[in-house]
Amino acid sequence: MKCRLCLQENEIIQSHILPEYLYAPLYPKNKDKPKRFYAISNDPTVRKEYEQKGYREELLCHECDNKLIGKHEKYAKEVLKKIKYKIKNKLVINILKIEDVDYNSFKLFQLSILWRSSISSLEEFKNITLSQIDNENLRQMLLSQNPGNSKTYGCQIIYPICENEIIKRMIIPQLIIPPELTNFNGYDAYRVFFSGLFWMFFIIDEADDIFKEIFISQEGLLPVFKIKGYAEDYLHKYAIEMGIANRKRDGKE
Ligand SMILES: [Zn+2]
Repeated sequence: MKCRLCLQENEIIQSHILPEYLYAPLYPKNKDKPKRFYAISNDPTVRKEYEQKGYREELLCHECDNKLIGKHEKYAKEVLKKIKYKIKNKLVINILKIEDVDYNSFKLFQLSILWRSSISSLEEFKNITLSQIDNENLRQMLLSQNPGNSKTYGCQIIYPICENEIIKRMIIPQLIIPPELTNFNGYDAYRVFFSGLFWMFFIIDEADDIFKEIFISQEGLLPVFKIKGYAEDYLHKYAIEMGIANRKRDGKE
């Protein structure tokens, strides 16, 4: 089988579409209990398959999965820790700024999320389909490990401030929502939710100046935008669906 990244015939492994560590906070502390996470699907039989290790699919050879993608996932994990620390300690006014981020590594991590989601054939990722040209651009950027400039497939990160305590404490930390197309400030964007953050991917004309300073800069400044009320209804809707799906799966309905 051909690896989707290097296009070489090779042994293909079950690759994660989103990093496996995103599911870690959702796994039970008691190691005897089965691991599970809250993925959104109303079909309890579909959910079951993904419970053990998150969304996976045969996409990549071991080399590509580990060296071209895995190492950036590891790096991003450290950056996510810094973001969480600042949020937890209320060190944020409106925009949280993380400095000295390795632009290449973090941007390649973001691009890999967009690309893997787009080429995935899993049901949960059906709402994202980039053009063949975009998919090929992203593949080449990942293969050459060249993430382009700041606006190329730029991703804005948003931290939603939530008034509802249950959603804030119980839902947000463990919610993973695969990408879907949305409109944000008049622009089309693919919105993904994980790690308590919205990740908005804009497929834009790079000349548009409105996108200055909202993405990670090549100098390594990563802005995280704190927005009150953004998508609270949306998170609430998912919280309800999650509850229904869980009860169905657990045989309570
Ligand atoms: Zn490969």
